Amino acid sequence: MNHETIRIFIFFIILFCCLSGEFFIPYLKRNYKKRLLINFLFLLSGILFLKICFPNGLLEMTNKFLAMDRNLSLAKLPWGVDLILTLFVFDFAIYWQHRFFHMIKPLWKYHAVHHSDESLDFSTALRFHPGEIVLSGAYKMILLYIFIPRLESFFIYEIFLNSMAIFNHSNIRLPKKWDYYLRFIIVTPAMHFPHHSPEKSLTNSNYGNVFSFWDRIFKTYTKQENSVFGLKEYTHKDLNSFWAQFFSPFSKEFKDQS
Ligand SMILES: [Zn+2]
Repeated sequence: MNHETIRIFIFFIILFCCLSGEFFIPYLKRNYKKRLLINFLFLLSGILFLKICFPNGLLEMTNKFLAMDRNLSLAKLPWGVDLILTLFVFDFAIYWQHRFFHMIKPLWKYHAVHHSDESLDFSTALRFHPGEIVLSGAYKMILLYIFIPRLESFFIYEIFLNSMAIFNHSNIRLPKKWDYYLRFIIVTPAMHFPHHSPEKSLTNSNYGNVFSFWDRIFKTYTKQENSVFGLKEYTHKDLNSFWAQFFSPFSKEFKDQS
């Protein structure tokens, strides 16, 4: 099996588990309707733009960096050490990428598309503007060039990142005790939901993706519960149109309230 097949296979397993969770232990009553189509269109446009901007893919680039055989690289460390450091270093970097997308206004206009979803479920994890996807790809490429992990280590992190994004956006209410203990290490749905609140103080908290401790370390952690999602920047007309959302980063009407 090649990497792409493994990636798709795991994607569907995670999707099946999270959909089962949403069905049996939902957090809230959900309105799927039109937003589901818009979220899938963003997934497809993101894949398309990635193929255009990085035709060889990040894994192929990792192979090229590995071929440089640089002494100062994670790949020179024993396999287990390389894997653990890759998970920490990349997740730490993605935590900061997420904060930059909130702090820097031109970047926020792209990330706002993700936050505009007025309901939260597995499909919100697919709703990213292609501009954000491409910038994130370029950022990861720089990280790969600096740290040069083994291909497998980076691939495992990518799988973790994508799986955790689907999981922590899912409309799942974990038993309170599970949630309490799990969120010491990983980001649970109840921990991520405040990040999607229209209230800025909550939106600017709980930025974590895979590991939850970055938020505790950098003092952006909140344990507050939240069940109201979306942004004040959009009119309802914008929310029901993929193209209105797609062009929103370039729209002068976008009222920035960050
Ligand atoms: Zn965010």
